[in-house]
Amino acid sequence: MKTQVIHVRHPIGPCAFKEPGRAIREGEVVAFPTETVYGLGASALLPEAVLSIFRLKRRPADNPLIVHLASKEDAARVAIQIPPVFHVLYEAFSPGPVTYVMMRNKDTIPDEVCRLSTVAVRFPSQVAARALIEAAGVPIVAPSANISGKPSPTRASHVLQDFDGKIPYVIDDGPCEVGVESTVLDILSDPIRILRPGFVTAEMIYKRTGLRAVSWYEHSEDGEKDFPPAPGMKYRHYAPSARVFIVMPREGETLDKTFSDALVAFDSPKAALEDDSAESSCEKNEYDMSVLAPAMDTVIHNAFLNEHSLEKRGIFTGDRTWRALIARLDEDLAGTLLPYTYAGEHDIKSATQSLFDALRTFDDQKVDAIFAEGFSEPDAAGYMDRLERAASGEKTEEKSILLPRQILFLCTGNTCRSPMAEALFNDRRVDGWIAVSAGLAAYPGILISPGSSEVLHEWGIDADAHRAQPIDDQLMESTDLIVTMTDAHKDILVRLYPDRVDDIVSYSAFTENQKDIDDPYGFSLTSYRATRDRIQEGLDRLLEELKRRF
Ligand code: AMP
Ligand code: MG
Repeated sequence: MKTQVIHVRHPIGPCAFKEPGRAIREGEVVAFPTETVYGLGASALLPEAVLSIFRLKRRPADNPLIVHLASKEDAARVAIQIPPVFHVLYEAFSPGPVTYVMMRNKDTIPDEVCRLSTVAVRFPSQVAARALIEAAGVPIVAPSANISGKPSPTRASHVLQDFDGKIPYVIDDGPCEVGVESTVLDILSDPIRILRPGFVTAEMIYKRTGLRAVSWYEHSEDGEKDFPPAPGMKYRHYAPSARVFIVMPREGETLDKTFSDALVAFDSPKAALEDDSAESSCEKNEYDMSVLAPAMDTVIHNAFLNEHSLEKRGIFTGDRTWRALIARLDEDLAGTLLPYTYAGEHDIKSATQSLFDALRTFDDQKVDAIFAEGFSEPDAAGYMDRLERAASGEKTEEKSILLPRQILFLCTGNTCRSPMAEALFNDRRVDGWIAVSAGLAAYPGILISPGSSEVLHEWGIDADAHRAQPIDDQLMESTDLIVTMTDAHKDILVRLYPDRVDDIVSYSAFTENQKDIDDPYGFSLTSYRATRDRIQEGLDRLLEELKRRF
């Protein structure tokens, strides 16, 4: 079959979609643009046509389709017992990116569309979509026009990647305006529930209608999470082949700085190794993954293990953030980055519009990892839902998203106590945390003391890749909590960084009898063991403190 691409000319004449309209009416499949994403359309009245959509998309049969209508009056054809809230919501959001779940009219809408007693209905606002539905003269089922599991298409070229030669028509009206799928609302429950987050958020619903909408996920009954009321939510969606990391903005910090920290943190095992060989006469040690990586979030950890394939990274953010980021990074690191930028800076609307195209573009460029801008604003629920799915294939808790927090252990020379504390902490694999260490008077590049190394090896921990480093502004800035080995260290550090006083604690807060961790340097292995055991003994209390604070 040859696929004909119909380029839309505006204004759209009354006969423009006569042919694709007829094709749909007669049971064929036509891809067309909507304001959310491109849809793969077929007549909702013809079971065979509906089934062909499932086959084309390789969509699981229990994931029902949304029925698209051109006018409000048509709702009574496909749904029964329409609740009064429908009219309120329709006035506020339709035509537009909202889908309403109502009782299905089984006389018109076959089980193939939806095996439930309900039906999902939407009224797109995109002019070509409306013209096509009118030309077809039938309700149109239209899931996103992609093979299941790929990012949704937001341009006609995306549709052709999956369906060229498999369907008779693709209507091309340029990039989609919204860029993520519609918000699916269960309007039969009270309060109404958001079954799938989308462009329209609970805040927008409340502002425009005074109606409270709750997320089904947060208001689900026992077991419902395994059987979501929108069956599609249990499937992995929008997953590019590259690993995706979400860079969440941090308070009081510019986004380019956060991106830069994320990239440097991501690179640090390599960087540590390279710096050593270049600048010190220390014997070059293979970097030992067990030292730094274990405490990192597992996603990042896995990426470390794939270190060698991590050559190209895609960066998705605003063009202003990108320019500031590039100015921050050294050339080597900057050279590994491929940007996909939207116009502006931290702009949820533009970011949403470009997200899926960015994911696809990075896939085409075969990048190994994608760093994408995250948004914590409430109106970003739809964007974040899609991005989190791309990142992990499932809904992730916020804590497992980049960046991990950093704890820094501080002693004098950074060769005995603080590297031990760092290694013992990282050995615990604390979710969302990574430990580093430094000294108030450390010589850069000095190895871990043989005593510390040995007593850690006794516990199966290898910290031999450690190199001493002095504390400095940059380290302080990237650290969330500093734990000093003694009260004296704490006093000195607080004098150096008075505005960080709340973030500096002494290990004595976690030991029995509030005693310092004394320096074993120059003493026998017995002393090193005692130091190790005292640090270990305080760790549980330290972890409780982390939970309390963060
Ligand atoms: P898509 O067609 O890819 O935009 O996905 C449609 C979404 O709407 C999926 O998550 C479906 O599970 C959901 N959906 C469709 N019909 C219903 C329904 N009757 N009840 C609940 N969710 C539905
Ligand atoms: Mg879809």
